[in-house]
Amino acid sequence: MTEKLTKKSLLTTTLIFTLLLLSSASPPPPTVCIIGSGIGGSSVAHFLRRYSNSNHYDAEIGQIRIFERHGIVGGRMATISVAGETFEAGASILHPKNYHALEFTKLLNLTIKKPPSSMSGLSLGIWDGHKFVFKTFTSNSEIPIVQRFVSLANSVKMFIRYGLSLFRMANFVERTVDRFLKYYNAFESRPVFESVEEMLKWAGLCNLTTRTLGEELVEAGLSPLLIEELVTVITRINYGQSVSISGLAGAVSLAGAGGSLWSIEGGNWQMAAGLINESNVVLHLHQEIESLSYVAGLYELNSSKGESYRCEVAVIATPLDELNIHFTPSISIPERKLQHTFTTFVRGCLNPKYFGFNMVSVIPELVGTTESSDVPFSSISVLRRHNEKDMTYKIFSRQLMSEELLDQMFSVRNETIKINWGAYPHYHAPEVFAAVILDSKNLYYVNAFENAASTIETSAVAAENVARLILSRFSGQQGSGISDLKSFGDGKYQMHSDL
Ligand SMILES: Cc1cc2nc3c(=O)[nH]c(=O)nc-3n(C[C@H](O)[C@H](O)[C@H](O)COP(=O)(O)OP(=O)(O)OC[C@H]3O[C@@H](n4cnc5c(N)ncnc54)[C@H](O)[C@@H]3O)c2cc1C
Repeated sequence: MTEKLTKKSLLTTTLIFTLLLLSSASPPPPTVCIIGSGIGGSSVAHFLRRYSNSNHYDAEIGQIRIFERHGIVGGRMATISVAGETFEAGASILHPKNYHALEFTKLLNLTIKKPPSSMSGLSLGIWDGHKFVFKTFTSNSEIPIVQRFVSLANSVKMFIRYGLSLFRMANFVERTVDRFLKYYNAFESRPVFESVEEMLKWAGLCNLTTRTLGEELVEAGLSPLLIEELVTVITRINYGQSVSISGLAGAVSLAGAGGSLWSIEGGNWQMAAGLINESNVVLHLHQEIESLSYVAGLYELNSSKGESYRCEVAVIATPLDELNIHFTPSISIPERKLQHTFTTFVRGCLNPKYFGFNMVSVIPELVGTTESSDVPFSSISVLRRHNEKDMTYKIFSRQLMSEELLDQMFSVRNETIKINWGAYPHYHAPEVFAAVILDSKNLYYVNAFENAASTIETSAVAAENVARLILSRFSGQQGSGISDLKSFGDGKYQMHSDL
């Protein structure tokens, strides 16, 4: 009897002790499931790893899974091979002040290259469907002094046509870029944002999303001629849209037409690939997520292959607008249309007669277009000049380029590749933004920020904020918490505290 009692009390003590131990142990770190392996998804993974368990956030992050429906990472950063040569098919250029992209490049040991397609170096013609309303001088000379002279002559030609409005345009862009640079401030002076509106208001950028670019530029004192011609050319190239896009998307688009633009040697997609590699991520390629349900404190993701994954945190890093992911409980986001951009690559030679010329050499290397129903394409540019009659061209258009049209435009076509991108939001002012936290729990939407602007860098900035938001909430804080006040920098790479 006594022996039985002793055994029983020993068992009870062990049980209580185990229970006590279990209750005092901290819960396992949250697991994160990210849908999309573009720059948005890969940056979320990077910043989660970089900031977790740091002097900023005491939260730890467990396993991170990234799901990608395609067999390659990078999303809208992708390359294409035309006649054996590789070109950017989607996002091709970066701005010199894209500081996250610059830091990723450095961290991942990637090589910067100046793309030959940067607008500044090419001869430009503005085509209205019937004639060139403006054309810079074309020089095929390789001699630097001749190139410099032509470039100077072109600047004078531009100034004669557009006058001081050119400086007003540059000022408008610089003011906007300066405000955007606040997103690189140290944590001490930069809160974590729970909504895109809050994020934009804080940087002084929100008003720019409430009016069109056209309205903003008229107020900034630009002449109608500059807006109808050069500005329109740029917005059509960069966003496939007119100057009725919002002022912020417009300013970002204009910034993408300046000097010192760059890209990554071998393809910008390597940024996403590198970030995924260095972030201890389980990558699931060819795994399209079809449904996402919140079940007993976990998000259950089901793929088209019938596989199922559970995570404490789910991040949507792709535009939801044309996707059919089934959410339980359902989520609500404002309706948003994507602008489709058709990118057509042609190896061959343009037909000078299409543009009213006799010689192909007088066709500008970059043909931009005005807003007119007579123009069936947005731009055409020379990517590579193999010789006088053999070049690789890139055409942007809002509609598929028909074979008939291409036959009219080209006298020789050796290879043609067409891509249909659900490219970026169709911008309109005032913009309405989806929530960043879609369900008030742990379901996050990086691409809510795309209504502000769609670029590699803006995706990285939005992703960094989502990573901080997740960490701050798991550190038991909301918004900018105590750990946000700690000093910045773990020495892995330096942020730009001088900005
Ligand atoms: C033609 C074109 C030109 C551009 N030019 C520039 C430029 O010069 N400079 C610049 O900075 N930006 C440019 N952009 C914009 C830039 O590409 C985007 O803003 C940026 O790449 C968006 O990255 P993301 O990660 O948010 O989305 P994405 O790159 O679209 O990544 C989303 C990923 O999610 C995957 N996915 C979607 N649904 C599912 C699912 N259900 N399950 C699993 N995976 C899924 C997709 O396959 C994709 O890989 C351009 C875009 C286009 C299309």
